[in-house]
Amino acid sequence: MTDMNTLIVATHNAHKLREIGQILPGWDIRGEDSGAEETAETFVGNARIKARAIAPRHPGSWVMADDSGLEVIALGGEPGVRSARYAGRDGDTPANNALLLKNLSGVADRRARFTCAIVLVAPDGTEHVVEGHCPGRIAEAPSGAGGFGYDPLFVPDGYDRSFAELSSDEKNAISHRGRALAAARAIIG
Ligand code: IMP
Repeated sequence: MTDMNTLIVATHNAHKLREIGQILPGWDIRGEDSGAEETAETFVGNARIKARAIAPRHPGSWVMADDSGLEVIALGGEPGVRSARYAGRDGDTPANNALLLKNLSGVADRRARFTCAIVLVAPDGTEHVVEGHCPGRIAEAPSGAGGFGYDPLFVPDGYDRSFAELSSDEKNAISHRGRALAAARAIIG
């Protein structure tokens, strides 16, 4: 059984669940694999696929799905919705980061941004969409041991440290997911 203070999140990523829990204290956050294939060409589209896959399993609860990724201007927005599988295999972070550095070798314009799209389904079935962005640049080499994914390569605007060198509080305050979740929090109350 679930109640109004339970938030079902369409993910099995423990890192993400922890970040969401930090930004939404007081909510019982439960992760659930949607099992859905992310076939859309936009972050919102993929978040919607996941939210709609799990919402019917939890009538009367808030359901949330997010989709996020990194867009690099000089690469025409890549890796974009393919951020998790940029180098081919889903979730192969070392290969993804190595490919990103390779594709940017000799490229002076390192501007990039993280985007996070969130689709919320309210207990009455109403759908809400919010987005958060974090602009920055891709470093020449990785630094830092925190975070996940592209964090060691991403230096947010206004900082000289990568996401992987920031504390989780520092990252949450400016990150794409932190910003999208703040907007989500305003909706779910
Ligand atoms: P997801 O849709 O949130 O699972 O994100 C897809 C992929 O984007 C992840 O596998 C990471 O490669 C990348 N990504 C998303 N958010 C972050 C972040 O906060 N830091 C580093 N990489 C991220």
